[in-house]
Amino acid sequence: MTKARKTVLEVVEQEGSPLSARQIGARIAGHDTATVYRALHYLEEKGLIDSFVLHCDRHGTERYYTTGGACHRHWFHCVECHRFIDLGECVVGDMIEKIGRQKGLAVTGHTFFATGLCADCQAAGKMPGRLPSDTCSTQTD
Ligand SMILES: [Zn+2]
Ligand SMILES: [Zn+2]
Ligand SMILES: [Zn+2]
Repeated sequence: MTKARKTVLEVVEQEGSPLSARQIGARIAGHDTATVYRALHYLEEKGLIDSFVLHCDRHGTERYYTTGGACHRHWFHCVECHRFIDLGECVVGDMIEKIGRQKGLAVTGHTFFATGLCADCQAAGKMPGRLPSDTCSTQTD
C-alpha cells in the first residue's frame, strides 16, 4: 500500500466518525486533493472503508467515509448541530438480505443513515421539522 493510502486509512480509522474527502485532506499535510480521492477510491474498492452520500443544509451533498469491512457501522446526523452519532454495528444487513431473498435478489451492499435531532439539540428546545410518520408514502387515504 502506498504511503498516501496508508495515511488516509489511518485518518479514517482514527477519527471514528464519518469524514468528507475535504476533511480528510485537511488532516493530511502534503497530499493534494486528487491523491486523497484516489486513495479513498482504492480503499473503498478493497473494502477497507465504506462511504455514503448525505445531504444537509450546512454541508450540501457530501460523500462521507468511515471504516468498512464486516464490522461496518451506521450513523445518525443531527440536522441542527451537524454532529455524527454512532448507531453501532450494522443491524439492517440481515433484514435487507432476508427481504432480498424473498424477492429473489442477491443483495451485495446497502446504504443506511438516519437524520434528525440529537439529544442535546432536543434538550435545547429545538423541534424536529418533520416527524418520521409524515414521511411514509404508503398511506391509503
Ligand atoms: Zn444536535
Ligand atoms: Zn450537516
Ligand atoms: Zn449496514
